[in-house]
Parts: sequence; structure tokens; C-alpha cells
Amino acid sequence: EAKNKGQDEYLQAVQEFIPSIAPFLEKNPVYVEKNLLDILLLPERLIQFRVPWMDDEGNWCANTGYRVQYNSALGPYKGGLRFHPTVNQSIMKFLSFEQIFKNSLTGLAMGGGKGGSDFDPKGKSDGEIMRFCQSFMLELQKHIGPDVDVPAGDIGVGAREIGYLFGAYKRLNGYEYGTLTGKPLPLGGSLARTEATGYGLVYFVKHLLADQNDTLTGKKIVASGSGNVAIYAIEKAHQLGATVYACSDSSGYVFDSEGIDVELLKEIKEVRRARLSEYAVARESAVYRENASVWQMPFAYDIALPCATQNEIDVVQGEMLVENGVSIVAEGANMPTTMACVHLLNEHGIVYCPGKAANAGGVAVSGLEMAQNAHRISWSFEKVDRELEKIMKDIYENCRDTAETYCTAGDFLAGANIAGFEKVADAMIREGLV
Ligand code: NDP
Repeated sequence: EAKNKGQDEYLQAVQEFIPSIAPFLEKNPVYVEKNLLDILLLPERLIQFRVPWMDDEGNWCANTGYRVQYNSALGPYKGGLRFHPTVNQSIMKFLSFEQIFKNSLTGLAMGGGKGGSDFDPKGKSDGEIMRFCQSFMLELQKHIGPDVDVPAGDIGVGAREIGYLFGAYKRLNGYEYGTLTGKPLPLGGSLARTEATGYGLVYFVKHLLADQNDTLTGKKIVASGSGNVAIYAIEKAHQLGATVYACSDSSGYVFDSEGIDVELLKEIKEVRRARLSEYAVARESAVYRENASVWQMPFAYDIALPCATQNEIDVVQGEMLVENGVSIVAEGANMPTTMACVHLLNEHGIVYCPGKAANAGGVAVSGLEMAQNAHRISWSFEKVDRELEKIMKDIYENCRDTAETYCTAGDFLAGANIAGFEKVADAMIREGLV
């Protein structure tokens, strides 16, 4: 703890992880004897760099860039890039730590990494975004490659940014399709990658409900965020017969009594790159509540899908979820629920689906994008979507069965952590002390 003083998010992720795998370590002392946990907790490499760029007025600016290459036991480092003013070493380390176990759960050969910058893309022109991405890649390219480290998108980094990053990488290193995933389709991107995290989240919930002889039909849902993950979670939930009534951004939330109109949401967020408040302007059935948390909205619903950012649901918001009668919280975002709130949900019998399992669909399809790039082929949307659902079903069952074996049935957090850890730890032992 002393070594990572001030790195609150990172400590939170580690402190959530370690106690949950204790029952597994007790039954498998070899990992303790080999000091595996201490070794695994150390990132293999932390890269921090300066990113100078010029704004449209000709001012010289600079931000800090990061890439954390946390663990490569299972394959090349893999994980997104986040551009957001809150990015710091703690956030990069927590995200890359989570990514190790998430990637392990997908069953694909991917290690864990994450990167990004404290650059704020909000309000920047297209030219400024492009110049920033090019400067960022000038340094990052030294550390990545199809068999080394394969970044993708995250908050503030979508297909546009990945396109600029890919173009810059290409000019320095030639065409290597498999160096980045989440690419625009003409640059070798995979169909269904844009949809994958949101769709995968809803597939996870679908299989959870199927185990209870239930379906999504008629379910009332509230989501947070209105970015890549939220939009496609809403789309898939609607396709499967549920209705999503609210979503949010960092300025407030929108409630639509007729259910969120996904096409309008896409038009506002993806095409116009406008704020969510525009949604309520365009739709009579909707209201926008400025500076309010969607998790403090009094409204009876069944499923909460946090898809914005870390620590958005603490105990206060959790109590509102209880009051609203929510029965499932499934995380599209990374660590959106604080540990204290997870305990609260458990006490009230609310099923908690941790992000490292429930939002693994994005990185899973990134893995499939790498496979398609390696073979110079593209699969149809239907094929990728089928594979995605199969992977999400496997992840769900793996978490469920692992929880039943080692701790309490329905403890998906422990199930995900143990199942993810076992594969990584086993690979580390087989690879020897390297
Ligand atoms: P986007 O940038 O597309 O969207 C992020 C959304 O969350 C926006 O609506 C944004 O609002 C909101 N948001 C971001 N930061 C905050 C904040 N501090 N407070 C309130 N709202 C905030 O990102 P994604 O949809 O890609 O990512 C969302 C979450 O999902 C992240 O936790 C990410 O790590 C996780 N994730 C993403 C994957 C992917 O494939 N994209 C894969 C797995 C996990 P505003 O526009 O106002 O900032």
C-alpha cells in the first residue's frame, strides 16, 4: 500500500481482488509457495511520455501519455487507450490490472495492458485531435506491435482516433494491421467491434436470466453513459425485448417515458458529437436533468447497466437502486461500483456482475479482429456476433461454476477473479521466472 500511496483507484482494484481469490489460494497452496501474487502485482513495464501538440490557434501544448504493459503471460499486452482529463498513473494501473483477468476470461491469447493520456478531446477540433493522435503515436509506436502490444479504444478514443493513430503508426512502420484494434472498417477493422462491449454486456445478462428461466422481455432498464458501450447496450436490450428508460453523460441524465430512441441517440452522439441534452430537445417524451446522477433517479426498474466510468455508484446511489427494486447490476464500465456498494448489493440479494466479466465482449471481439487481420480476411457481422455471444455465455458459465466450486453460488466477482487468475498464474509458472 505504501508503495502505491495516493493511487486510490489502483489500490481499490487490488484490494477488491486479493480477498476474493483467498478461497482458491487456500486450496491451491502452490501459488502462495511460488510467491505468485507478489510477482503478478508488479507491472512488467510502465511507460510515461510527453505528448507535445499544437492547437488551432498555434499555441504549443503538452499532455502526458501512458502505456502500462502489466502482464504478458497469456499473449501480447492488450487493452484500450483512454483520453480523458482525469487520466493518471493510478487509473492506468487499475485499468490494466483489471484487463489481465478480463482478457484471461475471454479464453483468447491476450495479456493485459492499458494506456492513454490526460488530453481532453471535448471541444477539440478534428485537426487538433488528429495532431494529438499523431504526436502520441510518435512515441507509443516504439513500444507496440502485433505480437508485442495491441492497443484499442476506451473513453474518448473511438474509430476516428484509432484511424489517426493507425495512420501515424503506418507511416513509421508500414502496414501492420494487427497493431491496433477497433479500427474503422476500411482500415481492417472488424464488423461488430463497435457494438461488441454493449452487446456482450446484454448477452451476459441474457444468460444469467436464462439460468433463472427468465428473459429480457419486458424488463425495465436504466443505463449510465451515452458513449460507445451505453449506446450498443441499449440497442441490444431493445432488440431482446427490454426497454431502457434513461442514460446519462457527465453533465446530467435523460429520462424518456417511451424508452430511449437509439437512432436519435446515435445521431446526436456519434454523428453530431453533441451533448446528451440535445436528445431531450428533439424528443417530447424525454426530459433532461442537469447535474443529476441517473443513479439517484427514483424509478422502479429491474436492471442497472452502469456504462460511464469508475466509482459512479457508491453506497448512496446503491441505496437508491435497492429502493427502486433493481435485481441485477451489470457493469459495462470498468469498476463503476465501489466495494462498499457491492457489499450493500450482496446484502440485498441484488445480483452483481463485475465489469471484468460482463464487459469483456469488446476485448473479445478485438481478439477476433486480430485473428481476422492475421489471416487477411473479414468475417460477416453475423459470424462475429455469434462468436461474441458464445464467448459471453462461456464467461458467464465459467464465473458461475467457479463461484460454486470455491465460494458462494452467485458470487460472480469471486468467480471472475478466480477463473481469470488461475489461467494467468498457471501460465506464469509454466513460463518460468521471466
Ligand atoms: P465513451 O467515451 O464512448 O463514452 C463515455 C461515456 O461516459 C460518455 O457518455 C461520458 O460522458 C460518460 N463519462 C465519462 N467519464 C465520466 C465521468 N467522469 N462522469 C460521468 N460520466 C462520464 O467511452 P466508452 O463507452 O467506450 O467507455 C465507457 C466505459 O466502458 C469505461 O469505463 C470504459 O473503460 C469501459 N469499457 C469500454 C470498452 C470499449 O470497448 N469501448 C470495453 C470495456 C470497458 P461525457 O461525454 O459527458 O464525458
